[in-house]
Amino acid sequence: MSAYADRLEALAAEAADRCTGCGKCFEVCPTAREIGLDAGEAKARVAELSSLTHGGPAADGVMKWLNACDGSARCTDACPEDINVRQWVTIAKMKALETARPRSEGATAAASRFRHMAQAVRLLASMQLPSETLQKILAPAEKRTADVLFYTGCNVLRTPAPPIAAASTSSRKPTSRPTSGWGIAPSSASASRAPPRC
Ligand code: SF4
Ligand code: SF4
Repeated sequence: MSAYADRLEALAAEAADRCTGCGKCFEVCPTAREIGLDAGEAKARVAELSSLTHGGPAADGVMKWLNACDGSARCTDACPEDINVRQWVTIAKMKALETARPRSEGATAAASRFRHMAQAVRLLASMQLPSETLQKILAPAEKRTADVLFYTGCNVLRTPAPPIAAASTSSRKPTSRPTSGWGIAPSSASASRAPPRC
């Protein structure tokens, strides 16, 4: 197990140890009500959460609760022990998922999702940009050169408007680094300007 996973385990275990089982977190959870979980069974759900955290079974009731969580943090606000219940719930859900599905299977699914996201981003960018501009952005790294680098952040393909606007003030064509950011040749107007936020 990685140090990060160890840290998450420790955070969840600490939450479970501090929890008094009062059930207030579950009582205020809006999504639990939305999916029909009974606020009157709050103590039972929290007991299942504690048990799951300590290696117990992933009971139906608690898994329905965890899977419905939308991260609102109402539970955290309601906890009299100042426990970060949202964090606890999130870690417990990850742990239950990992137990139910081998890590290698999860990694394959994550890679596939990332590939689809990258395709969607390229499609989105191609719908927003003239094809000539898009080709400049997507050109292989070895074909790009720049005198000055203009760093735009990691999401330039999804929100290309700010760098396009900045590049249009330059007298030279835009180019980019192999991984992220853009390079533009300096002009008297743009070189000294702070980069736009995207
Ligand atoms: S963070 Fe999740 S568990 Fe907490 S109140 Fe919101 S939906 Fe419910
Ligand atoms: S509100 Fe806090 S102390 Fe009460 S059951 Fe939830 S986590 Fe435990």
